[in-house]
Amino acid sequence: MSELTDLYQEVILDHNKAPRNFGVLENADRTADGHNPLCGDMLRVSLVLEGDVVQDIRFEGSGCAISKASASIMTEAVKGKRVAEVEALFEGFHELMTGDPSVKGEAGAELGKLAVFEGVREFPVRVKCATLAWHTLEAALREDGKVASTE
Ligand code: ZN
Repeated sequence: MSELTDLYQEVILDHNKAPRNFGVLENADRTADGHNPLCGDMLRVSLVLEGDVVQDIRFEGSGCAISKASASIMTEAVKGKRVAEVEALFEGFHELMTGDPSVKGEAGAELGKLAVFEGVREFPVRVKCATLAWHTLEAALREDGKVASTE
């Protein structure tokens, strides 16, 4: 295992142990649930939108280390961002998770801490754990009342 992978793993373990923005927002104006039946991960994302800016965001739920760490890092990444920026981040993250490993798009450079999930790409089943929080966030932003599912 490379040193880089160790570092990434440390970040994931840290966020799993001490998730950031964990809980429910009492004054949330958008909420969505997400479910990854393959692994059993369940998430709820709640957020406060002010205009088109994600003013505040929290998540709760139970799941594996990767799903929890991904949700935790996601909340940090999107807080204070405009919806269009959030969508660009999701696109970049999705590309990182599913794209050609030899291609690093422009979006990749903007991902910051989200890049710790790069190694997850090697494990297709785990990719769903890592992207669940993002699908749930999308559902909350769309507010269509559907439960986001990775299946
Ligand atoms: Zn999982």
